[in-house]
Order: sequence, then C-alpha cells, then structure tokens
Amino acid sequence: MAISQDLSRALHRTLGYTRFRPGQEELVQAVLDGRDALGILPTGGGKSVCFQLPAFLLDGMVLVVSPLISLMEDQTGRARAAGLRADFLSSGMPASQRLAVVDRAAGGGTDLLLVAPERLLVPRFRELLSRLPISVLAVDEAHCISQWGHDFRPAYLRIGEVKDHLPVPVLALTATATPRVRKEIETSLRLRRPVRVVGSFDRPNLAWEVRKSASHGQKILDLKELSRGRSGATIVYASTRRSVEAVRRALASRGTGALAYHAGLSSAQRSRVQDRFLNDPAPLVVATNAFGMGIDRSDVRLVAHYQLPGSLEAYYQEAGRAGRDGETARCVGLWGPRDRQIHDAFLALAHPAGRELQRVFRWARRTLKKDSPTRVEPSAVARDMGLKGGEEAAWALLSALARSGVLVVEGELVTLVDPEGELNFLRGFREAAEAQVDSVERFARETHCRRRHLLRYFGEDAPQDRCHRCDRCFSEGLGVSGPFSSFWGLFGRMKSQ
Ligand code: ADP
Repeated sequence: MAISQDLSRALHRTLGYTRFRPGQEELVQAVLDGRDALGILPTGGGKSVCFQLPAFLLDGMVLVVSPLISLMEDQTGRARAAGLRADFLSSGMPASQRLAVVDRAAGGGTDLLLVAPERLLVPRFRELLSRLPISVLAVDEAHCISQWGHDFRPAYLRIGEVKDHLPVPVLALTATATPRVRKEIETSLRLRRPVRVVGSFDRPNLAWEVRKSASHGQKILDLKELSRGRSGATIVYASTRRSVEAVRRALASRGTGALAYHAGLSSAQRSRVQDRFLNDPAPLVVATNAFGMGIDRSDVRLVAHYQLPGSLEAYYQEAGRAGRDGETARCVGLWGPRDRQIHDAFLALAHPAGRELQRVFRWARRTLKKDSPTRVEPSAVARDMGLKGGEEAAWALLSALARSGVLVVEGELVTLVDPEGELNFLRGFREAAEAQVDSVERFARETHCRRRHLLRYFGEDAPQDRCHRCDRCFSEGLGVSGPFSSFWGLFGRMKSQ
C-alpha cells in the first residue's frame, strides 16, 4: 500500500498524472522489482508511461527498442517535454551525431535512449551495450516479433540474443496481440517468469458496423450519408494514396469538403492537415494508414473504412482511434466482395515471386556495401533491373528483402546487413498474410455480434452475448432488418435516453 502510494506520488511528481491507467502501475512495479514483464495495452492505453516512469526513477537509462524513426522522434520529443534526458539513434543520422548520442549515454547523461532493432545487431553497438548504464530493456511494438503479426520485423527476432549481454529486466509492450502472438513474444524475448498485464480491448463506447457496399459510387454515397451533420472529427481510411485522392475528390464534387493525408504529401502539407484535424471543430480527413500515429484527438466520432485493411489487428487499431474520450463513436467498414481482389493484388505485390527476389538480392549484393546506408532511388533500381512494375515494384521487392532480414530500409536509405541471408524465410509470409485477410473477411461476413467477434479474436471473453451496439445485435435484438438509417435512428434514441 505504502509502495503503491509512493508510485502514484512519483507519477504525479514526474509526469503530472493524478492516477495510473489500468495496467501501468503493475508494469512499472514489475520493472522496478527487476522482473521481466509483458504489457498488452490497447492503443492510447498509455504504454509510454511504463518506460518513462522507470527512466525517471531508476539509476542509469532505459533502452527502448522501437520500429520506426517517426515513432522514435515522437517518443523522444514527448519524453523531453516531460523532463527526461532522451535521445534516439538512427542510421540516417550523420556519424558525428550518433557518436555524440552514444558518448552522452555512456557518460550517464541519458535517461531514455530509443534505438531501432537493427542497431542491436550491429556488432559494435553490442560491444558498447555492456558499457552503457542500462537499467531496463523495453521493447515497444513487441508484436513485430511475430511473423503472424501484421508488422513482422526480422531484427525483432534477435532482440532476445541481447539478453545474454544485458542482465536487466525486459519490458515488452504492444497494443496488438492475439494469444498466439503473446506466446511468441515471451518465447522470443526469453522472458523469465514475466509479470503479464493484459488490458481489456473492450471499447464499450464504440459501435461497430460493416456495410455491404459494392461499388465506388455506393461507398461515396455511404460516406456522404455517414458524415452528414457530423460533430467532432471524422477519419475515413483508404488503402492507397490513389484511393485517398479519389475519395476526397468524389466527396468534394458532392459538396462534402474533406482533407487528404498520405505519405506522398510534403511534410508542410501533412502538418497543415494535422493542424486542421486537431483544431477544426468537425474536420473530415481521408487518409492512408500513415495518419494516426502521434495524432491525438479524443473526440473522433466516426472512423469509416473505404476499404477494410489486410488484418483485424490493423482494423482494430485504426478504428480504435474513435471515441478516445469515452463518448459514443462509430466504426463503420465499407466492404464489397470485390475488395478481396484488391487485397490479393496487394498480397502479390508484397510477396513477390522468388525469382524476382533473387534478382534484387543479387543487385543489392553488387551495389550496396555491407552495413553502410545508401540512398536508393527506386526508379533507378527499376530501370537497372528492367522491372515491369516500375518504382512500386522496386520498393515492394526491397521491402520483401527487408522482411527477410537481409536489408534494412529506412526511408530512402537502404542498408545491406546480411549478404548471406536466406530468402526461404519469406515463403511462410504469404500464407500468414492470406490468413489475416481471411480473418478480416470473416469479420465482415459475421452474422453475430461484431464486438464479440473482435474480442474473441484478441483472446478476450465478451461480457455478454449481445453488445446492443453493433449492426448485427441491433438487427437481431430489436427485429430491425431494414436500412441502417433506422438502426442509427434507434441507436440515437437509445443514446439520448
Ligand atoms: P499508447 O502508446 O499506449 O498508445 P501513449 O503512451 O501514447 O499510449 O498515451 C496515450 C495518451 O494518454 C497520451 O496523451 C498520454 O499523455 C496519456 N496518458 C498516459 N497515461 C496517462 C495517465 N496515467 N493519466 C492521464 N493521461 C495519461
């Protein structure tokens, strides 16, 4: 009790929060006690606190493995704003800057250091590890360990090796973990008798709906209807930059103004959209999955998917950006039987044939120097190799090689890390990706409670048979089988009671 009060006080003193969110305290306490821990907390659940607070309280520094530069930058910025001495290391930095970061860390001037998993594979960095005053190894987005997760990253599989050099507690954190993935995380990171904290994924304030919407025209009509008279923010997710632009144009031509967001925009354009999203009273943003990370608006009232993504994990994460304020919000997927073809095309692109992979691998071995990041123009690669699919095909092939662990791709910088790598590894991926697309299709076709379906998928028991919130429960429970407008009419009435 006394300890718990101390921790709460420390939380308030350091980060200014008055109380812990579910799971945070147990995870921080485990780490302070020197135990390994696995924390599965939903997006927005406050995972960062689990490594920020130990970084404040323990001597030495917390080393955090993180998969993306954008995440590292974001985390570093937030940690600094909270008063921690935080840094990150990326291969895109000039060597002098990297050296300065390492020197600072070795001299005890750092509380929190973020690194990409590939950094742990660099022999020189491994040697350095024993000289750094590390108190905790935190692994953020730990689901990247699993080939069955939607973000597999081969270097994550080798984080466990570092444990031999680093006798400190390991804290694995993720928002997306089916029971199978949880097991894989524990095994791969060699967690010893870990403290397990699995937050609930249930979001009772979210109302789930999948609309059968066969054509582009129908989907636009649906989106128009869904966004009419909206309050709060609306996000419409689409799979590609091209479909984002097409949806934005189609909405605009029907009198619904929308902003577009995708990685193809300049950073100035992206900041402008982010600003308006945060500050306009009822913005509508059409976006690829590039939109969301680090964008914190709690009154998102509707997340609609023009196309459902390739895995339920990704869907739950994106849709879960709705209703962070706890008020009712809607998650609507527009789903047409033809969407499967889009996923199949994606799968073919993301999992290219072995012959092409071998060719790009040979090109990489010829052109790139081991462990030395090189700026690569995808159009030049496509030209060099006479790739029919042009730039897009070149990136897909490089990304596939990155998944197999032979290359690291960070923006346009490509590093050859394992010239002897095994491409056979890639075979199982396509099957895993297909299984994920199947699971999305099963969700779309579900005839019973959707909330229950999602919770079961994440290994959780649904609280009751019917949620009385999703389209399925509504049509069953209340005998409503007509158009969804009546469903929402009823829902609205229920809410206002
Ligand atoms: P996650 O990484 O799990 O998605 P974050 O660590 O980014 O979540 O936290 C999400 C938001 O919740 C942030 O704005 C953070 O400041 C806030 N937050 C985290 N923990 C608490 C807490 N105990 N009390 C209040 N706000 C918190």
